[in-house]
Amino acid sequence: MEKLISKIPEGQLAQKWTRFKSSVKLVNPANKKKIDIIVVGTGLSGAGAASALGELGYNVKNFCYQDSPRRAHSVAAQGGINAAKNYQNDGDSTFRLFYDMIKGGDYRAREANVFRAAEVSNQVIDHFTALGVPFARDYGGTLDTRSFGGVQVSRTFYAKGQTGQQCLLGCYSSLNRQIKKGTVKMYPRREMLDLVVIDGKARGIITRNLITGEIERHGAHAVVLATGGYGTIYYLSTLAVNSNASAAWKAHKKGAFFANPSFVQIHPTCVPQLNEFQSKLTLMSESLRNDGRVWVPGKKDDKRPANNIPEEERDYFLERRYPAFGNLVPRDVASRAAKERCDAGYGIGETGLAVNLDFRDAIKKQGKKAIENKYGNLFEMYNTITGVDPYQEPMRIYPAGHYTMGGLWVDYELMTTIPGLYAIGEANFSDHGANRLGASSLMQAAGDGYFVLPNTISNYLADEIRIPRISTETPEFEACEKEAAEKLNKLLSIKGKQTAATFHKKLGKIMWDFVGMTRNETGLKKALELIRELQTEFWKDLNIPGTISELNMELEKASRVADYFELAELLITDALNRKESCGAHFREEYQTSDGEALRNDKEYAYVAAWEFTGEGKPHILHKEELKFEEVEMKVRSYK
Ligand SMILES: Cc1cc2nc3c(=O)[nH]c(=O)nc-3n(C[C@H](O)[C@H](O)[C@H](O)COP(=O)(O)OP(=O)(O)OC[C@H]3O[C@@H](n4cnc5c(N)ncnc54)[C@H](O)[C@@H]3O)c2cc1C
Repeated sequence: MEKLISKIPEGQLAQKWTRFKSSVKLVNPANKKKIDIIVVGTGLSGAGAASALGELGYNVKNFCYQDSPRRAHSVAAQGGINAAKNYQNDGDSTFRLFYDMIKGGDYRAREANVFRAAEVSNQVIDHFTALGVPFARDYGGTLDTRSFGGVQVSRTFYAKGQTGQQCLLGCYSSLNRQIKKGTVKMYPRREMLDLVVIDGKARGIITRNLITGEIERHGAHAVVLATGGYGTIYYLSTLAVNSNASAAWKAHKKGAFFANPSFVQIHPTCVPQLNEFQSKLTLMSESLRNDGRVWVPGKKDDKRPANNIPEEERDYFLERRYPAFGNLVPRDVASRAAKERCDAGYGIGETGLAVNLDFRDAIKKQGKKAIENKYGNLFEMYNTITGVDPYQEPMRIYPAGHYTMGGLWVDYELMTTIPGLYAIGEANFSDHGANRLGASSLMQAAGDGYFVLPNTISNYLADEIRIPRISTETPEFEACEKEAAEKLNKLLSIKGKQTAATFHKKLGKIMWDFVGMTRNETGLKKALELIRELQTEFWKDLNIPGTISELNMELEKASRVADYFELAELLITDALNRKESCGAHFREEYQTSDGEALRNDKEYAYVAAWEFTGEGKPHILHKEELKFEEVEMKVRSYK
């Protein structure tokens, strides 16, 4: 039986979304009140969805593990959010944004979804502006924009280096309006432990109250996962330390296919690791590459201070290799180019694992004030972390794990392979192919939450109006709750010597060394072996103090690491299966003579969607063939 039905509407690409909206089944206002929807997550996608569904009149239950929805990881986003407004009159359009994303993703995303993301981008900006998000404005009062990697227009709207925070505050205010109206009930400090499936449909979740430890049951007609990405599988990453894959992974084990897990974005501009005790890395926004120039010394092992190296002895390697896009090449390209220079012995600093991001020329040309206006808080952050003033000396940067293009497989309606279970925002695989372009995640997350899901979910819910409120007193809820508690108790009972963080760090190191910016068959196989050994040790030697029925952050961490071991295995299996290089997935065996990614469209122009078949059993691969009707698959070149 064909299991991947993408439900792409018929017709011309540009007409699909309009046609879909005009023909989708609706739920009338009186019936909406009888329908419950669970939304897990309160980032731009989750808070957006909960607010929009509440506004439509559904009963929404919204969950997050933070103490407040406004602390969701989206708060960390710095640089900006894209939209095809073409305010600069520089040739932008919905089609061009769509095209940039398809090309940026190295032709491994589904055309119809990407076009729709570009289409709703303008609504997102209007909506946030109406919510009071203080986007930067130019002198005349209109919204200002800047450029991000992989594009030749200026379409990124921003609020200094705090775009995510300001947008999330907008979402938080729309969410609060619904909480006050009673359409959304908020459940903070709750962790989703498992998904309840009844007669093949998603009907609820099991959560743990993180303050009291109580295990709870929640039922609904549909469940939406807006639970973010799994970049912390590398331990050190730019994500919030508590970001995790557990909700998506549990849903996967209940029947939701996981798509392209090996497509992980390594961001080129992060503050390099300073010591062994660090638990996270800090991003320096891509927006900085609008004005900062990336370079290394032209001579190997040159340890002179950056300012003492004369112009003619500097190698602006991105400008040299990619003259058409220069410092604004996409992230995968910039990351690999920095790695290549460092591996060749041109890296700077004590470790040699860093390159310069230099604002000298921009400050000379535009003045310090102009640079401060654009990036002031990022410069301050860098200075606080490193003690170096980037107005005086170049920043030192190095790539780090950042974003996951892979995620739960969804169809055009954003429904997973479990009927009634939806995945939105970074939690799904939908819009970015093998590499995400900067500032397109906030755009997708908010677009999914506010504008796409509220339109698509009624197609499913229209047939659910006769189903009474979902009772949690059923054998399925009871069994799921019991199983979730047993898993936590099993972790608690190990009583070994090592903390969850110790294992996470070791897992992250293996992932970074063998499944990071570049991969090869031998390394991937080695990683599988090492991870299996470490996983066995984890289940023998983990130590968690305390009990299940109290605040227990060690238990939270351990449970997430246990899932990461399993996801790591699938991620590597996916990387081994894809015998080509595309976007962020760079297999060393498949490259051009000048070190660029070598795609194999004949054999791999598909989405790899993996089906869980049982503990310890191999996953089954399902392929969604990607058909490109509006764009031609070309070699992706930024030269
Ligand atoms: C440092 C940094 C800077 C970035 N800058 C930009 C930028 O400038 N522009 C851009 O477009 N993108 C940027 N990104 C990417 C972007 O921020 C994220 O991809 C996006 O915010 C994800 O939003 P989301 O709604 O999908 O999930 P998130 O914001 O990650 O929210 C996840 C939510 O799920 C909840 N959750 C997760 N698991 C569970 C569970 N088991 N139980 C209960 N709740 C759970 C969490 O509590 C949280 O509320 C940046 C990323 C980083 C790391």
